[in-house]
Amino acid sequence: MNQKFGVIGLGRFGRSIARKLAAKGAEVMGMDVLQEKVDSVHNDITLAVRLDSTDKRALESQNVNDLDVVVIAIGASFDAMLLTVFLLQELGVKRIIARAQDETQKVILEKMGVTEILNPEEEVGNNMAELLLNPGALMCMQLPDDFEIMEVTAPRKVLGRSLSDIGLREKYNLNLVTLLRKTDDAHHIMGIPDARTLVEKDDLIVLFGKNSDIDRFIDINQ
Ligand code: ATP
Repeated sequence: MNQKFGVIGLGRFGRSIARKLAAKGAEVMGMDVLQEKVDSVHNDITLAVRLDSTDKRALESQNVNDLDVVVIAIGASFDAMLLTVFLLQELGVKRIIARAQDETQKVILEKMGVTEILNPEEEVGNNMAELLLNPGALMCMQLPDDFEIMEVTAPRKVLGRSLSDIGLREKYNLNLVTLLRKTDDAHHIMGIPDARTLVEKDDLIVLFGKNSDIDRFIDINQ
């Protein structure tokens, strides 16, 4: 059965989540206290309503308890975030995803029993720092426990060599997720690589592993 999503707070962050979910075919109810924010998405999602999520009766009147997942994307007002979490819990919403803007907010939300916490500012900041530190890096996704997925231009010393020859797993503790090869001026994904796959000039490689292992691999091979 299709899940029903709610997004409370339709700033840039909430709006992009709501639109993406709807573009993928999901049923999405967007909510914001400001009419202009509601108007900005009402053509893109299933239902957009103006309500103050700190008002229990307003939430009840929109049957928010029928939603399977509610993302609270309120940023500036942490008071409103906390009260909204509390009310959604009271209404019996099973899955609540909240937004924290710093570590203290994250800890408070965890104490309230919220297990899924997003921090878009911190994620973008961490990724940006990685990209700045590694000039060859094109995309970086920070994962828990110091792991990351990074896309880099294949460094000079691995060109013309197979994955087994490079020894990604054995020497560097890294997995190659895939590689992208330039054809017709664009890079295309080469599917699932195996040990015999050769790395060519201008290839982009997508690596998964510990941050320090990826840095080491790039240092040694550039
Ligand atoms: P973003 O950082 O996502 O761009 P923003 O800076 O525009 O957001 P924030 O203050 O972070 O604005 O809040 C995000 C949205 O949440 C805003 O559109 C705001 O109107 C809405 N919002 C704030 N409080 C409530 C509330 N109590 N009920 C519903 N919506 C709210």
